[in-house]
Amino acid sequence: MQANWPPNARIILHIDMDAFYAAVEELDQPEYRGKPLVVGADPKGGHGRGVVSTANYPARKFGIHSAMPISQAYKRCPHAIFVRGRYARYSEISTQVMDILKSFSPIIQQISIDEAFLDATGATNLYGPPQYIARKIKDAIRSQTGLTGSVGVAANKFIAKVASDLEKPDGLTVCLPGSEQTFLAPLPIRKLWGVGEKTAEKLNKLGMKTIGDIANVEQGHLMHMFGKWGLHLWQLSRGIDSRAVEQFTTRKSISEETTFEEDVMDYAFVEKTLFRIADRLSRSMQRKNLKGRTVTLKLRWQGFETHTRSKTLNEYVNDAETLRSIAVRQFRAMSREGRRVRLVGIGVSQLNTVGGEQLSLFGHQQSPQNEKLESLLSELKAKFGDAVITRAALMESKIRKPGSSKNEDSKN
Ligand SMILES: [Mg+2]
Repeated sequence: MQANWPPNARIILHIDMDAFYAAVEELDQPEYRGKPLVVGADPKGGHGRGVVSTANYPARKFGIHSAMPISQAYKRCPHAIFVRGRYARYSEISTQVMDILKSFSPIIQQISIDEAFLDATGATNLYGPPQYIARKIKDAIRSQTGLTGSVGVAANKFIAKVASDLEKPDGLTVCLPGSEQTFLAPLPIRKLWGVGEKTAEKLNKLGMKTIGDIANVEQGHLMHMFGKWGLHLWQLSRGIDSRAVEQFTTRKSISEETTFEEDVMDYAFVEKTLFRIADRLSRSMQRKNLKGRTVTLKLRWQGFETHTRSKTLNEYVNDAETLRSIAVRQFRAMSREGRRVRLVGIGVSQLNTVGGEQLSLFGHQQSPQNEKLESLLSELKAKFGDAVITRAALMESKIRKPGSSKNEDSKN
């Protein structure tokens, strides 16, 4: 497909490897190829417990699919080859695939072992139009790993994800910006994110079978039925999805802790220590351009018994005040009964790089104060298009103060 991509539209790719575990098995054991192959639990002659992880395409012809009880898969095709998963091997190839994706754009959000979103908005100068980028990615994956993946290309994540699934295996599906609604209309409502069996039934009863049916309903009608989520559903059905490709760091968590010289029973002192820890942690996160969603208090009592309490927020944070208040609240909620404290600490996990989606367009590190610049840039880009703005110039002249040192921490 060869058509023009509007210059202001984002370019989002969803890459999904085809029957991944099974494909890796076929890669490593050529004698499996072309035969029904099931990766999962031991079927034990039809009495096995556990489920199917992945079935290859020949096995799918027998109606075998992921998450099906292995005993049922055995009944459907007793002569299939059943193998246990070799997850270390899968993750090795997964790393290879993700590295290939990163070579096209650093803005990548890995969703699972074999699936990722890529924001290639800034990559057209290097790799050509979106459909070429997708083709090059597919070719690179095939030549470097011997496996195939399906790619969806669109202006947002939802459409890209739907698209990658349409022509599996080895698919390449492009939805041009502006044609989202036509693209989605004939598809069953189950393709909408978050629509499970029950919701689908409910909607079917109301005469809504395709995504187009939902798009044609009054927005208020869906909001009345499902509240805020109804609005979300309606927007998706019209192909509206502004979520960014969120870059997660490979780093899983960051923490700071203090062991007291002597076990402490003065809880006010413990809280003061938590204040200091929160400050330290916040500064360290800001230096590393990290924000996180889950804040964990760690507490070790005299005698080494250790407890943790976590709170997950709806947004990413790294400010001392938030870390502090969550940690203190959790500390106060613990049953303490006059016990002495040996160690306290705060950890933050579910990390994301500050500014996520825009981060690497600049080719170097962001600092928190750059978040404002980023949103300004997005606005300008939306108005005037990419070419009008020279990012480097903006960065140099307006943001970096003379003499201020650059961020020294490397990204994780
Ligand atoms: Mg897959």
